Amino acid sequence: MTQKSWSLAIHGGAGTMSPDVMTDAQQREYKAALQAALDAGAAVLARGGAALDAVEAAIVVLEDDPHFNAGRGAVFTYEGVNELDASIMDGRDRSAGAVTGVTHVKNPVKLARAVMEDSPHVFLSREGAEQFAREQGLEIVDAAWFATPERRRQLEELKAKKLSWFDVDLKYGTVGAVAVDSEGHAAAATSTGGLTGKRWGRIGDSPVIGAGNYADDRACAVSATGAGEFFIRAGVAHEICARMRLLGEDAQTAADAVIAEVGKMGGDGGVIVAAPNGTTVFSFNTPGMYRGRADSNGRSEVAIFAGE
Ligand code: ASP
Repeated sequence: MTQKSWSLAIHGGAGTMSPDVMTDAQQREYKAALQAALDAGAAVLARGGAALDAVEAAIVVLEDDPHFNAGRGAVFTYEGVNELDASIMDGRDRSAGAVTGVTHVKNPVKLARAVMEDSPHVFLSREGAEQFAREQGLEIVDAAWFATPERRRQLEELKAKKLSWFDVDLKYGTVGAVAVDSEGHAAAATSTGGLTGKRWGRIGDSPVIGAGNYADDRACAVSATGAGEFFIRAGVAHEICARMRLLGEDAQTAADAVIAEVGKMGGDGGVIVAAPNGTTVFSFNTPGMYRGRADSNGRSEVAIFAGE
């Protein structure tokens, strides 16, 4: 008898975190936050639920947690606003939904899913996306819900030191989840506040289907974090799936090759990948990436630094 197997991986952003800079207490805090999201997604899969529901469940926990740059705790734009982006994709038929620049929707990943399931479109932006959220009855919150003092401090630091968007804090706290369920279906979801100090309606890779997020039952599910401009230019998430599907590469080989390409272009960050054979892999060219994975064999682990 074959046991119904499932697998799940999550990330909470890649960056310069190192054991010298993070206290033990901080490491424990982040690990507990990651474990809570991993458990929420794993619970869905363990009871035979769909990959799509599992990735959404994990992302909602990470969006509500102020440690990560998504939902509550998102970074500020140059003008001091939290503008949120999210995406979700169903590997069964490659249906997808995404939103950018929303400012009052408590869980942007739920809005991305509503775009996928309840609109004829894939990608909605700003006021229109907010209007659609209200029509769908999604939870709307005051902008103050998202704002935290630490993110405001990071914006002030960027302005005071005239840092580049890619330098500040160098922690890409975007969140993501990828899963393959017991039916063998893949799904991916990604949610972010983008980059501290972003201006001019800048959009990163996270809500761009094929760049920061992709799922295809024939290949894999991918969620990315990092310097979004490079991830868009490399078409990272689709490229990894395409290498697996067309070249027959395994998930680690494909992910490492594409992250190496991003690195050559000058970008940093990482990806999580789940393959239909049950493999979950991480690949990143930063000193660390908040991450975790769980599967039907009883694995349940979280990590922060490279080599952990
Ligand atoms: N990829 C995100 C962006 O460029 C940032 C992140 O990963 O935290 O908007």
